[in-house]
Amino acid sequence: MSEQHRGFETQAIHAGQEPDPATGAVITPIFATSTYAQDGVGRPRQGYEYSRTQNPTRGALEECLTALEQGVRGFAFASGMAAEDTLLRTVCRPGDHVVIPNDAYGGTYRLFSKVAQPWGVEHTPAHVSDVTAVRAAVQARPTSVVWVETPTNPLLSVADIAALADVAHEAGALLVVDNTFASPYLQQPLTLGADVVVHSTTKYCGGHSDVVGGALVAADAELGERLAFHQNSMGAVAGPFDSWLVLRGLKTLAVRMERHCDNAERIASFLQAHPKVRQVLYPGLPEHAGHEVAAKQMRRYGGIVSFRHADGAAAAAEVCERTRVFTLAESLGGIESLIEHPGRMTHASAAGSPLEVPDDLVRLSVGIETVDDLLEDLAQALG
Ligand SMILES: *Cc1c(COP(=O)(O)O)cnc(C)c1O
Repeated sequence: MSEQHRGFETQAIHAGQEPDPATGAVITPIFATSTYAQDGVGRPRQGYEYSRTQNPTRGALEECLTALEQGVRGFAFASGMAAEDTLLRTVCRPGDHVVIPNDAYGGTYRLFSKVAQPWGVEHTPAHVSDVTAVRAAVQARPTSVVWVETPTNPLLSVADIAALADVAHEAGALLVVDNTFASPYLQQPLTLGADVVVHSTTKYCGGHSDVVGGALVAADAELGERLAFHQNSMGAVAGPFDSWLVLRGLKTLAVRMERHCDNAERIASFLQAHPKVRQVLYPGLPEHAGHEVAAKQMRRYGGIVSFRHADGAAAAAEVCERTRVFTLAESLGGIESLIEHPGRMTHASAAGSPLEVPDDLVRLSVGIETVDDLLEDLAQALG
């Protein structure tokens, strides 16, 4: 059986992770070293020279992520934002134009609007679940990148990756997909035509809320080479301990995602029937606008559920402060359930912009606790 044909769970546990040749250690060691002894002048022992360039623990993670995304080459960074910044500066030059989601992750929007724009990279927000709108934005001016998140954060709209790959490629642009919300277990954008996948491995890949990290996986070797050059030149790499934590998280990604999805589905139907809930946003619901596209490109629908409170912003904020099992916190994708108010927390930086989110919105990152405890907690918090 060739390694490429192994199942997802097998790859998650073994890809890039042979037992350590020196000791037989089954688990990849944390190679806490900055430099490596060389066998002669200019003769590094196994290609390792300096840990910004290459580190065996980070290398194992990069290979594992590449296998899980079915890409050609992967890169691990100190954070999701570091991965995004490195990608942006690899593929864009001053004067370039990027189409971004009109409900992008707040930090991504801030990177484009406050960091990239002053350096001369322009962006247009578009509704990425509307292929026609993205095509119009791409055709309005020369575009080098179409940047997509799907499902989006926090509104959970769904972009048709295969259709947008065509739109981008017709215009000579790259399609970048931020796959943080789905994780490679639920969705593999490179197999649908995307050129690069972005991850905040802080979220589902790490999965235990104990590490901040990011990753890129490229679909082709040429782009992989340019990313490798920029990763090393810019230096925002994942350290060995952080890489090890993410590698450990990936081993249980499949089983965790199944339980995240089970619990999120139960919670979405509970909220739908609740009188204090105006609308539930979850791609798994048949009435969700993106349900059909999600069903086509995702294995299941993920662990994030957002809802709008029937009584407005203050009531939405109060629910966030009343839960006892759900913790009031930013971030998502860990084993524990989190609740937050995007308008005042994660997406506060988008206030007053085209990316502003409704102020009656509550976002849940549904964890893998006993689902009855989660349902009971939401019932009491909603009153
Ligand atoms: C968290 C997140 C990021 C940023 O990642 P960090 O690890 O926090 O730097 C980017 N995209 C999405 C969708 C995210 O949720």
